[in-house]
Amino acid sequence: MDAAEFRRRGKEMVDYMANYLANIEQRPVYPDVKPGYLRSLIPTEAPLEPENYEDVIKDVERVIMPGVTHWHSPYFYAYFPTASSYPAMLADMLCGAIGGMGFTWASNPVITELEIVMLDWLGKMLKLPEHFIAGTHGQGGGVIQVGSTASEATLMSVLAARCKAIQQVQASNPGQSEAEILPKLVAYTSEQAHSSVERASLIGGVLMKKVPTDDNYAVGGGMFKKMLEEDKAAGLIPFYLCATLGTTPSCGFDHITELGPICNKENMWMHIDAAYAGSAFICPEFRPLLNGVEFADSFNFNPHKWLLTNFDCSTMWVKKRDDIIGVFKHSDQPFYLKHEHQDYNHSSLLQNWQIPHGRRFRSLKLWFVFRMYGIQGLQAHIRKQVALAKEFESLVRADKRFEICAEVIMGLVCFRLKGSNQLTELLLKRITESREIHLVPCHLSGRFVLRFAICARTTDSRHIQQAWRHITQLTFEILQEPNH
Ligand SMILES: *Cc1c(COP(=O)(O)O)cnc(C)c1O
Repeated sequence: MDAAEFRRRGKEMVDYMANYLANIEQRPVYPDVKPGYLRSLIPTEAPLEPENYEDVIKDVERVIMPGVTHWHSPYFYAYFPTASSYPAMLADMLCGAIGGMGFTWASNPVITELEIVMLDWLGKMLKLPEHFIAGTHGQGGGVIQVGSTASEATLMSVLAARCKAIQQVQASNPGQSEAEILPKLVAYTSEQAHSSVERASLIGGVLMKKVPTDDNYAVGGGMFKKMLEEDKAAGLIPFYLCATLGTTPSCGFDHITELGPICNKENMWMHIDAAYAGSAFICPEFRPLLNGVEFADSFNFNPHKWLLTNFDCSTMWVKKRDDIIGVFKHSDQPFYLKHEHQDYNHSSLLQNWQIPHGRRFRSLKLWFVFRMYGIQGLQAHIRKQVALAKEFESLVRADKRFEICAEVIMGLVCFRLKGSNQLTELLLKRITESREIHLVPCHLSGRFVLRFAICARTTDSRHIQQAWRHITQLTFEILQEPNH
């Protein structure tokens, strides 16, 4: 493909993309395929001779689309949203064209520089404490995790906390080796925390304990303190807490104003995982839920979930850059990465804020999105989706056959049919088979619960009403059946 053909095909592709998104409602939201469906549709070997672009593009509808779950359909209510907007997609195209690596400042100055400033913009939008903002006299700053997922940010925070804890223990007990200290370290997280948190402790090689939650599926100070006292009495060394703001099952909020001071007093690292809910903190009415972040050592959320920035873009801030850079400080900088601006701010070290070496130009998406929507446009998006969740909540509450299972604070409604778990399980089975709307379940206090998350940017009131009509129709049919 030469430049002339690229111009033509590129314009066609943009048309295809725009048509896909404009007409997405007409596709069943959930694919009707069985595992392994694709293998029989394409050859068993890569082609030896180049093929025609026309043949490739024809196969998109034949091979690819049948296996797509349409996350941007307004009938998609599963998991949490993954963001999508036209400005972010355009920025991604440009990122592909620039196509460079940004591991050191010198390898691509703009990648490091725009990222630092965008993380400051975003940090200020969230009214993060000043010590997290790089362009101040503080010692902190933000980074787009290369992964670029909340999981990786959690892992980095575990590694940084572990490194710091070992140094602290060794400072007061000079003879102790790392191998002696490690088995005594304990990390904590909520029993409602995302599975990636436990995974971070497995990779980090540290014990992690789950803290039981209260009636709102949140961790409070009392229970946490009790566990710490017991563990310390048993000779263990508590060193890390991952608190969640907006848990994945029910969007619960750990009480960080209680947990933060405990962590600070015990010299423990507090990381906050706000993967989904973090975006909402740009709205003043939701910002109080972030109070207590001033006690945290690190904070992370995913603009790729709810801030109109296409996957992937996960942003992380640390109070002290040296803590996170310290994880990799022992590895000496190879000669080919040294350059004459080594000491410029903390920026040339962004490569040491993360596990992989290469870094993409992700901040370009944020820059396009922030400028094209403005803070007001982004706030309007959050508010609209929360209002839609409230609208769905009132439909559920008005129907005596159903119950709401957790307080609706943001864009997620947890609900079920009153009665046995089997009834709600059957309802979900029928919903999934119908492929008209798509949602996933969770367990709350032993109950089988449906999660209705407002996801697509284009979801409107009429879609919510339609989804509810569909759910009540299926419910009616189930309740008509002989054994109910
Ligand atoms: C979605 C989610 C995650 C995982 O995010 P990734 O970016 O996919 O790793 C972690 N924690 C919470 C609370 C989440 O909702």
